[in-house]
Amino acid sequence: LVDHARHDLVVLVELAVRVPALAIDVHAFGVARHHLHEAHAALDQAAGAQQQRHEAEAEPAVERGQQAGTGNLERGIEAVIHGGALHKPDIARYPAQAFIDVNVTGTLNLLEAVRLVNPKIKIYNAGSSEIFGDTGGAAANEATAFRPRSPYGVAKAAAVSLVVNYRESYRMFACCGILFNHESPRRGLEFVTRKISHGVARIKLGLDTELHLGNRDAQRDWGFAGDYVRAMWMMLQQDEPDDYVIATGETHSVKEFLEVAFGHAGLDWKKHVEIDPRYYRPAEVDLLIGDPAKARKKLGWTPKVTFAELAKLMVDADMKTLQDQLAGKVNVAQ
Ligand code: GDP
Repeated sequence: LVDHARHDLVVLVELAVRVPALAIDVHAFGVARHHLHEAHAALDQAAGAQQQRHEAEAEPAVERGQQAGTGNLERGIEAVIHGGALHKPDIARYPAQAFIDVNVTGTLNLLEAVRLVNPKIKIYNAGSSEIFGDTGGAAANEATAFRPRSPYGVAKAAAVSLVVNYRESYRMFACCGILFNHESPRRGLEFVTRKISHGVARIKLGLDTELHLGNRDAQRDWGFAGDYVRAMWMMLQQDEPDDYVIATGETHSVKEFLEVAFGHAGLDWKKHVEIDPRYYRPAEVDLLIGDPAKARKKLGWTPKVTFAELAKLMVDADMKTLQDQLAGKVNVAQ
């Protein structure tokens, strides 16, 4: 949808998630309503409708600090996409307890808030393939046991279990996507795919000569994030809520990604990639693969972007961004 609207909805969810107990606080709903109102306005604007209509309706109530009743939420929200969480790379910065506070208690607060305000609001909860831990190379599906191997994975497993519990106890439309690695040009540089695509672009444009990596034999089930968001949307369109593993069902090594990404730029990765022990992981998972059979059968979902297309589109995007930046610098200098 519209970037502003998405941002404000994210803020709402983040508010509910990051501060324990905030979601069921009256004032928090005032704040949340304010953000919702902004989101509405942005959506309306995009549709060419009157932005002022919502301002006139919502602003005074928020200013008076009234409890936001169910009105705006009922009218405004059909579904909450819940992805607010401490993420895996945050493990280096936060203690294990923070993952429980934010990812578990936060999810509980959100479920409870929706149950209290309007249990008809649908919830999509971002699970994670990290809940499975190391399956020893077996493709994980919805029946695979949870054996998480990090506080992040433990928290995501608990949050998924809470969603299932609320769905079964209160008949809420709450579903989980258990997504395997999903990549795009928006991926952070702390993930290996983006680190490589960004590195390729820098080397190609003469800004660098080397790229330092860890274990190049690791294998992952990498898909395109856009395809995975489509699966999320499809889950919310079903008659019944359920949980789905979203993956490509293929696994590829870091080396294969290097081959495609460097090759796409006309470069030989072997001439540029250096092994750096700093990037090796003490508790590495050698191979990850998901089994998306249920999503294929029940949702009719299949990924459209192939592994090679993914690597290439990420390189193209980084090339363009860097070229634009360089052009900008030239312009400034002139
Ligand atoms: P993850 O599957 O969520 O851990 O996604 P990552 O993109 O962080 O890592 C994928 C795989 O790439 C892991 O097996 C890493 O060990 C491997 N890898 C090799 N070199 C690097 C590196 O420099 N950075 C990262 N992030 N991963 C690397």
